[in-house]
Amino acid sequence: MMDQIAPGVFVATSPVYLTTTTIVVGGGGGCMLIDPALTAAELAGLGEWLAACGLRAAVGYSTHPHWDHVLWSRSLGHAPRYATAKAVTAAGRAREALLAEAEATAPGHDPAFVGKLAAVPGQGPAIPWDGPRAELIEHDGHAPGHAAVWLPEAGVLVAGDMLSDVEIPLLDVAAADPLGDYRAGLDRLASLPGIRSLVPGHGHVADAAGTRARVAMDVTYLDAVQAGRDAGDPRLLGPGAAWLRAEHARQLATTRPAPGRRPG
Ligand SMILES: [Zn+2]
Repeated sequence: MMDQIAPGVFVATSPVYLTTTTIVVGGGGGCMLIDPALTAAELAGLGEWLAACGLRAAVGYSTHPHWDHVLWSRSLGHAPRYATAKAVTAAGRAREALLAEAEATAPGHDPAFVGKLAAVPGQGPAIPWDGPRAELIEHDGHAPGHAAVWLPEAGVLVAGDMLSDVEIPLLDVAAADPLGDYRAGLDRLASLPGIRSLVPGHGHVADAAGTRARVAMDVTYLDAVQAGRDAGDPRLLGPGAAWLRAEHARQLATTRPAPGRRPG
């Protein structure tokens, strides 16, 4: 499924976890592929779609070092693949786990391409490439080195694993202040001026009003976790959400340790 959400910005959505791939068209048919995913067959199909459109991958970008965001395929060619310096370090450290997680959920990926990232070159906050300005909004909260991509000309925010309509906020519980980090990240994204379209890493594209609603839903969720109560979050309902209910329980336990228990 391939949708054009703004001039030169396409989003493909996998049925697996509703994982999104964002394609930004640049000069000479070169494209930026953000978080290309998810199965090996879908990446091969993406390569075929690009070729059929007279396009090619010029640069890859991974929003954060989780397995489903650091994939690539031979069919996409050998473009440089970037992430923040912190994300590159984390992906390098976790390489064996990334490979095992990819194989468990989406078997058949070429291990040579999983998690092979380089730090975004240059000093600036933007990805250097021949295409529309692509600013990085780096923040903690979900994963080390997580950075959304902001396309100011199109008003498109590619949010990585933030602001999903199908997943609750998933905290980096290994951090010293998971809730504080997450709130700070959310604030940075919510304060971007002129968001017209939001692409979450999992779920559905939202417009400006939908983005505000998601920010509010996430703040409500974080408030509930902070207060140590069940969230009543609609994303925790339904038969497919068992893993999210487990994550929610873990987040409650981790951020609100029982009296007398040492955190961590
Ligand atoms: Zn993630």
